[in-house]
Amino acid sequence: MGKRAHVLAVSYPAQGHVRPLMKLSQRIADRGIKVTFVSTEFIHDVILAASPEKGEEQNRIEMVSVPDGLEPGDDRKDLTKLSESISTVMPGHLEELINKINLSSDVDEQITCVIADVGVSWALGIAQKMGIKNAMFFPPSVTSFAWSLHVPKLIEGGVIDNNGTALKNEMISLSPDSPAMSSADFLWNCPGNPTLQKLAFACLISSAEAAKTSNWLLCNSFYELESSACKLIPKLLSIGPLLLSSDGLEQSTGSFWPEDSTCLTWLDAQPNKSVIYVAFGSTAIFSAQQFEELALGLELVAQPILWVVRSDLTDGFSERVGDHVKIVKWAPQEKVLAHPSIACFLSHCGWNSTLEGLSMGVPFLCWPYFADQFLNRNYICDVWKVGLGLKAEGNGIISRHEIRRQMEMLLSDGSIRANAVKMKELAGRSISEGGSSFKNFNHFIEQIMG
Ligand code: UDP
Repeated sequence: MGKRAHVLAVSYPAQGHVRPLMKLSQRIADRGIKVTFVSTEFIHDVILAASPEKGEEQNRIEMVSVPDGLEPGDDRKDLTKLSESISTVMPGHLEELINKINLSSDVDEQITCVIADVGVSWALGIAQKMGIKNAMFFPPSVTSFAWSLHVPKLIEGGVIDNNGTALKNEMISLSPDSPAMSSADFLWNCPGNPTLQKLAFACLISSAEAAKTSNWLLCNSFYELESSACKLIPKLLSIGPLLLSSDGLEQSTGSFWPEDSTCLTWLDAQPNKSVIYVAFGSTAIFSAQQFEELALGLELVAQPILWVVRSDLTDGFSERVGDHVKIVKWAPQEKVLAHPSIACFLSHCGWNSTLEGLSMGVPFLCWPYFADQFLNRNYICDVWKVGLGLKAEGNGIISRHEIRRQMEMLLSDGSIRANAVKMKELAGRSISEGGSSFKNFNHFIEQIMG
């Protein structure tokens, strides 16, 4: 009998990275391939605590962990500290883990492929050193990755400096058929946090380098969505949208918070296409003033609202909202977006949320906050034309009136809704038999089995 494949998926400890890699791992496991999923010890415990009923006993995917190098009480929201610590401490632990698995396994159980998230792209070097095939997984858009590959040209052309800071404010495009983008919207921009920007920029440059030597480069997107960027990266296998399986057999969704399913029953009681879903992902935070303005804006909207208010979204939140608003701490977002009562999505435009909304045919009201979310907003509003943006006042605050105005405009725009439905069809086709992502994924599976 030939050697069987065994994939080791190495995640970066952030919600927007763990979830899509977990979904990819589930899809690989669906093909009968053994998958071991590596998290940091901290995140491993967070995931298990968030879905205790789906613990380690269901062995479709083996969940293992390594230390992140921080103390139990350390602040893991400090991304600079976290990233520095894991890149110093985790490589040694990962190598040890691979050796341990391989030494304790029969030949046909040994690790044959490492898939590393972009945030831990150093894991590709470890796999190469150990003679193991390897794939980089890039959770954001292909366009983001194409911009990362373009960095040397941007520095050479004097558009940005060596830390990624824009030296000129200009509109530039990646290729003649790519939409132009403002240099203020580069995905490594972290306004007000130069240390984090330097780190994000350095991480993107090193991962762009690492991707060149990896055997495969996997992205959670589909060709028809970002064809101009896909064409620029011949090695790329776009395999998205990665969605939860429709049979509900996921071992874990990889959520960091328990999903409050009561909102699904609440949605059942709402009229078709009536509910505004409001969620800003896992890391966005609001000043007390902006949060107040958002709450007042939502009060002005005369439609049912499902609002995700994470416990760390803002300080001093009083649940002073109208009866038409249902608040949860964390929602089963994909199921919510797929619900027939959903009319639109007020979103921070994280790539996972963007793809999930597109896949379910839901129009967007865009409120980007950080990193690639501005680029995603531009695509949503200007390229795919499936949403509208919000403009801040001179003091940087988005007013309650702007929220109401843009929301009403979005809900009455038939062409945006029609475009959103077309996107849903395109996304569905790409992962159905014969579709672009379906073929790319099959190709990847055949190669790792070979
Ligand atoms: N999510 C969820 N429940 C919520 C809010 C978000 O399950 O109440 C999920 C969402 O489906 C997505 C992920 O969390 O898969 C957020 O990723 P995204 O890239 O949109 O944003 P980030 O958290 O990285 O800013």
